[in-house]
Amino acid sequence: MKNLLFVISGPSGVGKGTLVRLLTQEDDTLSLSISCTTRAPRIAEREGIDYFFVTKETFRETIAQNGFLEYDEHFGNYYGTPKSFVEEKLKTGSVILEIDVVGALKVKEACKDAVLIMVCPPDLKTLERRLGGRKTESEEQRGERLARVQYELGKQDQYQYVVVNDDLQTAKRALQAIIDKERNA
Ligand code: 5GP
Repeated sequence: MKNLLFVISGPSGVGKGTLVRLLTQEDDTLSLSISCTTRAPRIAEREGIDYFFVTKETFRETIAQNGFLEYDEHFGNYYGTPKSFVEEKLKTGSVILEIDVVGALKVKEACKDAVLIMVCPPDLKTLERRLGGRKTESEEQRGERLARVQYELGKQDQYQYVVVNDDLQTAKRALQAIIDKERNA
């Protein structure tokens, strides 16, 4: 079995976080890369589990030390994939990166073997409802995120796989099948 880098993207609110959590909980040889961010933690988010929450100063220092596999700015905050963390995890298994489309394409550029998977909503109305139900963001933040949805979905053709998250268990099984197939190819 190969140790691979899987990059999972999809619009905010599509459920990719839940899917990735389910996948990594059930498989010891599959782990999630934890990104660094300069945004404030949301309620119930934990340091070192959801993100490494860092200051802008620390983030910029890490950029200067070439410490990110990729990084980007979203909604006024930085987000980045820590290089050493991913390299360490790849020694013992496969790694999932849950990052946006721009970051995903940068990773594919740097690591040709990376497998890109996009998770899509069944339709835009469902996504809007899910985002509305999250209650962790202001009206303005939700608007910004929805505006980005069309752009992200428009990048589908650059992904090797597209999985529609209509039913969570069905989407999880589809993702698992892709991961198994790629690791055993
Ligand atoms: P959120 O604030 O909702 O957790 O994430 C906002 C956006 O940042 C999402 O599209 C998410 O996929 C993206 N993101 C999270 N971590 C990273 C990362 O390490 N690199 C990049 N480029 N984007 C990330």
